[in-house]
Amino acid sequence: MKKNVIVAAVAAAVLSACGGAGEKSEKLSSVDWNGMDTTVSPKEDFYRFANGNWMKNNPVPESESRWGSFNEVKDRNNDIIKEILNEASKNDTAEKGSATQLVGDYYYCIMDKEKRAVDGIAPIQSQLDKIDGLTKENLETFLADFHKTVGSTPFGFSIFEDLKDNEVYAVYLGQHGLGLPDKEYYFKQDEKSVETRAKYVEHVDKMFALANVNSKDAGKKILAIETELAGDMMNRVEQRDISKLYNKMAYADIKKQWNNFNWDKYFSAIGVTDFDSVIVMQPKYMAKFNKAIKNMPLSDWKLYFKWELINAMASTLTPEMEQQNFAFYSQYMRGAKEMKEDWKRAIDAMTSSVGDVMGKAFVEKAFSPEAKEKINALVDNLQAALGERLEQLEWMSDSTKLQAKEKMASFTRKLGYPDEWKDMSSLNISRESYAANKMAVNQWQFKDMLDKYGKPVDKTEWGMPAHMVNAYYNPIQNEIVFPAGIMQPPFFDPNAEDAVNYARIGAVIGHEMIHGFDDQGARFDATGLFKNWWTKEDLEKFKAQTGILVEQYNQYTPIEGNDEVKVNGELTLGENIADFGGLTIAYYAFQKSLEGKKEEEINGFTPEQRFFIAFGQIWKGNARDEYLRTQVQTDPHSPTEFRVNGTLSNMPEFFAAFNVEEGDPMRQPAEKIATIW
Ligand SMILES: [Zn+2]
Repeated sequence: MKKNVIVAAVAAAVLSACGGAGEKSEKLSSVDWNGMDTTVSPKEDFYRFANGNWMKNNPVPESESRWGSFNEVKDRNNDIIKEILNEASKNDTAEKGSATQLVGDYYYCIMDKEKRAVDGIAPIQSQLDKIDGLTKENLETFLADFHKTVGSTPFGFSIFEDLKDNEVYAVYLGQHGLGLPDKEYYFKQDEKSVETRAKYVEHVDKMFALANVNSKDAGKKILAIETELAGDMMNRVEQRDISKLYNKMAYADIKKQWNNFNWDKYFSAIGVTDFDSVIVMQPKYMAKFNKAIKNMPLSDWKLYFKWELINAMASTLTPEMEQQNFAFYSQYMRGAKEMKEDWKRAIDAMTSSVGDVMGKAFVEKAFSPEAKEKINALVDNLQAALGERLEQLEWMSDSTKLQAKEKMASFTRKLGYPDEWKDMSSLNISRESYAANKMAVNQWQFKDMLDKYGKPVDKTEWGMPAHMVNAYYNPIQNEIVFPAGIMQPPFFDPNAEDAVNYARIGAVIGHEMIHGFDDQGARFDATGLFKNWWTKEDLEKFKAQTGILVEQYNQYTPIEGNDEVKVNGELTLGENIADFGGLTIAYYAFQKSLEGKKEEEINGFTPEQRFFIAFGQIWKGNARDEYLRTQVQTDPHSPTEFRVNGTLSNMPEFFAAFNVEEGDPMRQPAEKIATIW
């Protein structure tokens, strides 16, 4: 009873807020009517029914490998950021370490292609010299320096919360260091995989030539070395099982078992020595690394590190190297036809290096506190709807339900931007060179990570810059995070009707919440600990239901006329669960918002129908075949078509709204309909 009063109160807050916005404009906006193709039946292919005309009229731009809502919003955000960067880069007297200096000088260097052409590989020459000076004796100190300055290879070291004790940071070691996106690329024997490896060899050879680093058969040798290392790595699907990744080992045992490498020397060069256990994510791979240290000739290691260096720094060096890097990774692997404009690439690169500084500048210009308030109220409504769904679940026992509800009630919310921005003033950015700046960022980020060790866990930290058009759930802190970048049309529009906002930002919010209950998230408890809270029976039922979803998505083929390229139901399971559960709770929260209101049709569509159309439209998109082929092998998200059609064909609420009957393509047969959240 008490709970219902609370629900009614927050629901009212949203309604009056939306009403207020509506008074300004004549009428609230609804779905994109022009984007639809009503010649397609919603019972046959809802994705094309909702988006068919948009798809016809919006081919993928030459510089892109896919195009959709997320890109459109990102483009708008980029325009704002571009102005900030242009202004900052004109100022060459800004105080060292200030936001203006950091982003201004960084942007200046990236855009100065003439200087990059003249510099050639000079900015990485000292790193190449270090590799030439590599010996069996200095391997450990070399590697520590390489990890700090260039990247994690051939294994990664990190400081991260201990999954089983998330109040403290732990030392982690794990696999790293392949030039192709996943282990499987090295072993699959189908025609395309064989071709990809041949193209990769060619690419490596070209890059060595462009870098003017002499090495005969570099490509072939690199492929052989990486294949050898990849043999004992885990593939992406295996890595979804957290329990396989959590292997806490006594440091003394590591030193004993993998003794071809002097771990004491390595860790003291890294600067962390005060620990007695390490969480090893892939022990089998670390054993392989230990063997390779002994068996692989030093000359091969040198070649390998040169490739790792060139590959990691490619886009920061000469325009020719940047072009060749694009030709393989973006053109061949993802189907883009030409490079994005320089300033757009600069923003992408800077987002991963000085994202916090850019995010702060972005929200100062573009963030609306009203949007944050309204989204906060929507999160309240979604959370209430999830609570009611959990209560009503028929397959789950009361004891597990209690735990699930506790977890749901314990979500931490982060909306808009961090309470405290990261202080990056000690980052040494200059106008010397793009590559030097990139390495300075690497060192700064590494130190930032090291500084955490031994301190209490920082729960205010954000894992995504504020201007990003995205959102996330972090199971280790049981938190849902929505950056300012996504709090705008078409995801959230204060001038749009509820059906639209619930279906869009509502489904995004629901999606992130359900990540707390997907096949990975469900293994973490209310406090974020990697700890089982399920009864054995309930867990089995959960696995049986999610198994149905795996089978469903395994059938999907995203490239027209190609039955070989299939969605991987296991790789995408977590995202598919989140899409399905997220839309379901968004729907029920929307239903609640309709209570006491007259249901009006617009253009002949009911509020429920408009809700589903609005959802379908958030995932509108076109993608190149090459992109889809790479996506299904590497991306845990299903192609957008199936994020819509796959989700809806499990939803009785959708069947009712569009009168979809048993036997229609948009309705899974009864025995294949999963019931999860
Ligand atoms: Zn997700």
